[in-house]
Amino acid sequence: MGNLFSRDAIFAVLSSGSKGNSTYVGDGQNGVLIDCGPSTKQILTRMDAVGLRDAPIDAVLVTHEHSDHAGSCRVLAKRLERERGRPVPFHMTPGTADSLKPQMIPHTLQTIEAGRMFRVGSLTVDPFRIPHDTADPIAYRIGIGDRWLGVVTDLGRPTTLVSQKLSTLSVAVVEFNHDVEMLLDGPYPWSVKQRVRSSHGHLSNVQAADLLVDAAGASLEHVVLGHLSDENNDPNKALHQAAAALHKIGAAGRVKLQVGCQSHALEPITIGTRAG
Ligand SMILES: [Zn+2]
Ligand SMILES: [Zn+2]
Repeated sequence: MGNLFSRDAIFAVLSSGSKGNSTYVGDGQNGVLIDCGPSTKQILTRMDAVGLRDAPIDAVLVTHEHSDHAGSCRVLAKRLERERGRPVPFHMTPGTADSLKPQMIPHTLQTIEAGRMFRVGSLTVDPFRIPHDTADPIAYRIGIGDRWLGVVTDLGRPTTLVSQKLSTLSVAVVEFNHDVEMLLDGPYPWSVKQRVRSSHGHLSNVQAADLLVDAAGASLEHVVLGHLSDENNDPNKALHQAAAALHKIGAAGRVKLQVGCQSHALEPITIGTRAG
């Protein structure tokens, strides 16, 4: 797009899964990390590996206190301040802040409220509530120009609010955590199986596919299947379910599917935006 007010949104899934989650979203001028589960070294190495070494990080947005999302808060906050010469705020709800283990608390912690949007430079940040078995969990969508990009993982069931937010997204990470049969036949103790399946656990492939059928919007271009369980899912099963869902709503041709993973960052997704 040639107009003066256009800019590209950059969206890079650095890691996704129960061992560590982190996604970079930016527009060249400003940028944020959503979650910092992997080690600080992994996060920065992976940004480097996909051409984002010098990409701006103006804030880190934490969804909830589980260590696969917040594990590196303390170390990353120190490292970013040292390397970039100024403190970088780590945003989270008061419930999440109160529930962080002491060794995870960042010195630049700033509390935010679900449902109250705020700006990080040129980006709009919209934190919204999701059902998960933690103190005050949220998901985020980021507004860049006329586009919304977001990460929706770690939820036990899709809610009306989640559907509303997802319907606005052009780029989305959507949780495809487990295949129900694999979970039930798998190695987890019964209590853990119950937790994963509960309304405050994680979305199954079928639930996530139903969510896409219900809420995929006209602007949707990219879906990254996220937070896949190593033990209780198969990327091909998840992809098959997602593709069937998109086919059902006539979106198979325009929406690109990828599977996020634990071992390496996905190539950044770039989409054009116009001044909103
Ligand atoms: Zn998680
Ligand atoms: Zn979690």
